Amino acid sequence: MATKEKLPKTHDNGFYEIRMESIGGLGANVAGKIFAEAGVLGMGFNGVTFSSYGAEKKGSPVKTFVRFCDARQAIRIAAPVEFPHLLVVFHDTLIATGMAVTHGVTHETTVIVNTRHPLAQVREQVGLCGGGLGVVDAIGIAVEEKSRPNTVLLGAMTRASGFMDPDAVRKAIATELGKYPKMLKGNLRAFDRGYRELELEEFACGLEHPPEPPPRYVSPLGYENAPMGGAVVNPGNTAFRDLTPSRIGYIPHFFPEECINDGHCEYTCPDYCFVWEPGVDRKGKKGMVNKGIDYRYCKGCLRCVEACPTTALRTAVEDEEYVKEHTVPQLGREEW
Ligand code: SF4
Ligand code: SF4
Repeated sequence: MATKEKLPKTHDNGFYEIRMESIGGLGANVAGKIFAEAGVLGMGFNGVTFSSYGAEKKGSPVKTFVRFCDARQAIRIAAPVEFPHLLVVFHDTLIATGMAVTHGVTHETTVIVNTRHPLAQVREQVGLCGGGLGVVDAIGIAVEEKSRPNTVLLGAMTRASGFMDPDAVRKAIATELGKYPKMLKGNLRAFDRGYRELELEEFACGLEHPPEPPPRYVSPLGYENAPMGGAVVNPGNTAFRDLTPSRIGYIPHFFPEECINDGHCEYTCPDYCFVWEPGVDRKGKKGMVNKGIDYRYCKGCLRCVEACPTTALRTAVEDEEYVKEHTVPQLGREEW
């Protein structure tokens, strides 16, 4: 049976394709499932979704893919989406840190970025020639609505797609969150705000952004050149990681005047964020003193706040300037 709804554009193979670029913890995998379910069960398309991610639950790159086609068409492709019609970047830091998240963008692509920065600035960052660009502060909205950034981005995706039925997506969100009814209201509000508050513009290719053929991304390590046995040949390679995109709007604030240097935060933190130096504590006793947090390694899990026996660590809404001002670099990692 043919689908009543029509896809606005497809590749020659008949697919409308979506790619989500994220970091473990921001909910791209679940967003893919919800969007695909809305398209297939709610609107009658044929569709598929799958993700690729690492072993860690949080902090490692995640790519989620969704394909839609007419209900009569069989899906016999399970390859990653290289040239997406809709590209969703779950955190602008993924672009700033130089990860290849925008490869395959063409004048047919609409790019959505979760960011607090203005659209024009993001366009420069992405180097977008033509096509659509949308920005939305998904983390800010998620904090206000006590939801997750992925439902805000689902709202933005629904509007930017131009064909997804908001009610079908709302229904799929309700199905997914059926186990957690308390969370549903906030997430539906977040979805609606993502839909409404997405700032979306279409661009023709201008001289300042001349069109280029879309690059085909070649992974530096693949099946042709990976070391035998998957060996890690550069140990210690996570020292320069920046886990900023793993956070979903909250960070620990550190108040040194209330710290008793008992090290509970240090034992609890999974990413060695706390910086210690030999010194003298408030009572004049010599020992290791907690100097603060290197926020580059902090994924915002807030376990340290729970573990702290005093109020030296407190949960706060993330602010970019605060993070820059209060990061205490780990020894030898002074450059930001
Ligand atoms: S929130 Fe606390 S425990 Fe979690 S990564 Fe950041 S500093 Fe470490
Ligand atoms: S757990 Fe709290 S009091 Fe103890 S060292 Fe860490 S910040 Fe200081």
